[in-house]
Amino acid sequence: MVALVHFASVDFELSPVERVAVLKKILTPALRLRQINLYHCTAVLAIAAMAFLAAPHRLGADEPYARSRDYDLQHSKIVLRFDTDQKKVIGDVTHTLSILRDSTAKIAFDSVNLTIQNVTVNKSPAKFESTATKLIVSLPAASHLGDKFEIEVRYEGKPAKGMYFILPDKNYPNRPKQIWTQGESEDTRYYLPTYDYPNDRLTTETILTVPASWLTVANGKLINVIDAPNSMKTWTWRESLPSSTYLITVVAGEFDEIKDPYRNLPLTYYAPKGRGHRLNINYGRTPQMVELFKKKLGVDYPWEKYAQVMVDDFVAGGMENSSATTNTSSSLKHPKLVPEYPTNEDDLISHELAHQWFGDLVTCKDWGDVWLNEGFADFFETVWREAHYPKDQTDFKRWNTAREWFWKTDLFAKPIVRFDFDDSTSDEFDGNAYEKAGFVLYMLRHQIGEEQFWRSLKHYLEVHRGQNVVTADFVKAIEETTHINNDRFFNEWIYGAGAPKFDLSYTYDDVKHQLALKVKQTQKVEGSVGIFQVPTNVEITTASGPKLYPITVSKAAETFTFPSDSAPLMVLFDKGGHLLKFADFHKEKKEWLYQLAHATEFSDRADAAVALGKIKNDDEAVAALGRAMKDDKSPDMRAVAADALSHVTGSLAAKQLLVALDVNEDPLVRAHIVAALGYFKDESSIPTRLEAIARDDHSFRARAAALQSLGRLKSPNAFASITTAVKGDSPDDFLRDAGLRAFGYLGDDKAVPVLREWSSLGKAVPSRMAAIASLGRIDKDNKELTRFIASYLSEPRFAVRESAIVALGNRGDASAIPALEDLLQANDLSIEMVPMIKEQITKLQKHPSAKGTAHSGDSDDDKEPASSDQSAVTQRLDKLEHLFQEMSDRLKSIEARLPPPKKDHDQ
Ligand SMILES: [Zn+2]
Repeated sequence: MVALVHFASVDFELSPVERVAVLKKILTPALRLRQINLYHCTAVLAIAAMAFLAAPHRLGADEPYARSRDYDLQHSKIVLRFDTDQKKVIGDVTHTLSILRDSTAKIAFDSVNLTIQNVTVNKSPAKFESTATKLIVSLPAASHLGDKFEIEVRYEGKPAKGMYFILPDKNYPNRPKQIWTQGESEDTRYYLPTYDYPNDRLTTETILTVPASWLTVANGKLINVIDAPNSMKTWTWRESLPSSTYLITVVAGEFDEIKDPYRNLPLTYYAPKGRGHRLNINYGRTPQMVELFKKKLGVDYPWEKYAQVMVDDFVAGGMENSSATTNTSSSLKHPKLVPEYPTNEDDLISHELAHQWFGDLVTCKDWGDVWLNEGFADFFETVWREAHYPKDQTDFKRWNTAREWFWKTDLFAKPIVRFDFDDSTSDEFDGNAYEKAGFVLYMLRHQIGEEQFWRSLKHYLEVHRGQNVVTADFVKAIEETTHINNDRFFNEWIYGAGAPKFDLSYTYDDVKHQLALKVKQTQKVEGSVGIFQVPTNVEITTASGPKLYPITVSKAAETFTFPSDSAPLMVLFDKGGHLLKFADFHKEKKEWLYQLAHATEFSDRADAAVALGKIKNDDEAVAALGRAMKDDKSPDMRAVAADALSHVTGSLAAKQLLVALDVNEDPLVRAHIVAALGYFKDESSIPTRLEAIARDDHSFRARAAALQSLGRLKSPNAFASITTAVKGDSPDDFLRDAGLRAFGYLGDDKAVPVLREWSSLGKAVPSRMAAIASLGRIDKDNKELTRFIASYLSEPRFAVRESAIVALGNRGDASAIPALEDLLQANDLSIEMVPMIKEQITKLQKHPSAKGTAHSGDSDDDKEPASSDQSAVTQRLDKLEHLFQEMSDRLKSIEARLPPPKKDHDQ
């Protein structure tokens, strides 16, 4: 799965640094909320507890470890109809199961708030009890190991989650009808009574009766579509390979479909009706991805088809249901915007596709091992980039991932495999299971070698095909393939926590012609964090050229010596950035200048740009960053240089940015330069230039960034420029939404009426989100406005509701607390909402008087909903980034005064 928050955080307006801060501050990877009603209803709790005690099974008793099982669910025939008026599912499911434990007398299914009408066992009426979370079916007599039963359950329900009804209404009369499900992690039970934990696998037959004009998608092969009474059709899908119940999918509604078969594999893409023309331009690389992954793995695509269905208001970014991925429809970019995004949605598309092998064919046995799904999917984003895009695009992603991961400080002390996660927020789906684990796989490949790595993956897939796995299965598969013992590697990186933080410095002895590199690991050794043993390299460049030396770092402090014919021009540690590490390499300015201009690898030049951006009032550093913005071959590098200059400020930096703007046509680079210009408050020529860019630049991204910068600079004409953008038309309202967000930066109360207008029902959801976010930042003493925003808390649309939650927190008006507390009692909250609401309440309780016309756009604890506008996020991140720089400078000066660590093993 890709969480919505993860998906949405990747946006053009955010510099790498800013994205780091987004991830650090707002990632709340809460992907599951179990049984939330129970927390507030002791009566129900008591009933559930009694039912639980009465049942002889052990369902649930083992979690967070994998459940012990009484039965093996082998096949489910799922027959569904829908009452769209009541948002109700009417179901008839027949489970075929086999008993795993002698004397089993009752079968328990997970079933949340479903009305069970009738149950039969082997076609005879059966006794059953149903509680708020379980359906317990009595077997006719105590059964024995191996006995088989067919249990049919007729039921109906209005699912609070798991299944979602997206329908037209009076405000959105043209919205295509869509019904879709989202099972992961444990939400299938909200619309289907079943065994809802990953450690069981079953085949399915899904039979859906829907209006004749609708399409449906479910797991597996389409068997037939036949006419049914009342202008309906019945679709039958059959999945003959077993997978876990969280991977079951049902989608039905008004969709456009494109078939793009790849060899014998049926490949289909679906868009909400009317957006079919966007499918190929965004998804058309899927066949190449299938080909690449299949070739790399040496294992065929495992399922009978691959469908990708894009749905509106999706609660995640993407979900890898077996053979039928569901993605957010916001991945269907407008054709005019697509050229401005170098890799477009390929990370999402390759991530979900890779899951078809890692996650679906081979599935984690418990959520503590979820990196076996998510880390692999993240890693394959890189595999696709490497194969399809210039090398710098992959290098940038890796460089940026490492930075972002270190910024999310709460991840450092946690191992990738762990069982202390918080059920209420699903925090096991964190940046360790995703980004860190993806990086760890990259390092593993680097260390054991390309050929051995891919052979190991093939072996792992072949041995465990159709099974549930734990980390040890993967470790063993590598050892069986390569005969290399990787226990240390896994102990350090997967079972252990953290990553090395290096403090690096060197001296050159011009008598011995020798360079001594001092390497310290400064991470705090405690809990699961230790000292790392890592192979890496050092490259020394002198006038006679570069020389690369392999080394293995293994101590808290050690010194490596190398021959060097003359004083070095450049010393690189871990050239190319192949390690997940933090490095503070003490170098002189002239070395960073040389490195920025001459290093061959992206990560080394990017490190130099960041280092030079921290040097204040230095014309040489500014000029060097200016040259990088003009001359570096990598657009990502030019963008990093622009970001670095935004921290330098001053007239020379402004001049360099303006010059670079003249020579950079690339939308990504232009957007970064324009965003950087928003930090130069004292340069009088900038607003006029920004106004022109906002009006008619060839890049929409640059125009949006210009609106943001105008707001930030609060220039005299900003209000007029932003108003023009909000009134104008652009692809997918791209500029309008940027303008609505820019009003929040500007902080002018005059914008309230227009923001109220665009926040209202009937307007496009992204515009509403942008407007609500900005309303959170202006006219903060206006209690009526607080009440107005609070009225959006009851919105069925999660994204709008989340915008309102965060906007209320940002206003600092404590009168919003009761409304937020009421919302906590609702039973239809999205996966990310509970922690979000609690955090805003805490914020308001702490700062009940936080108010003022101060444009808290710059407040560092403003919080945006994950799925909402990124510019507003950017706004608050500026401050954070600058704050961090200050803190890190202060920390360095403190560290410099501390005695050396006790564990010194200087050679
Ligand atoms: Zn995923």
